[in-house]
Amino acid sequence: MLKKEKEKYKEKLLKRKEEITNKLSEVYNQSKEVESGIAQDLVDKAESSYTKEFLLSLSHTERKQLFLIDEALKRIEKSDYSICQMCSKEINKKRLNAVPWTPYCIDCQQKEEEESFESSSS
Ligand SMILES: [Zn+2]
Repeated sequence: MLKKEKEKYKEKLLKRKEEITNKLSEVYNQSKEVESGIAQDLVDKAESSYTKEFLLSLSHTERKQLFLIDEALKRIEKSDYSICQMCSKEINKKRLNAVPWTPYCIDCQQKEEEESFESSSS
């Protein structure tokens, strides 16, 4: 992938991350009075149990997305972004544009969803 393209995806990822963390700080501000910006700082230090408490106030989807975004940002740095983490094939560009934080190609994603559905229904 071209450096220029990677920058584009990185921007998208950071923007989405910001949206989620902004929402997080809103939740935080609603529950406790605190200066803005602190929540963002807490998200950066997600290993503290204090932060996890706030992350828990986000919906499951958002928390998962935040995690996937961080993982995708790491992959951009390591230059294996756009490579499926399951089958090592290139992920379709259209898919990356729609879901820039996805770690899997469409085939593997479907397989994964089927499996998690099966395990949760049993
Ligand atoms: Zn795959």
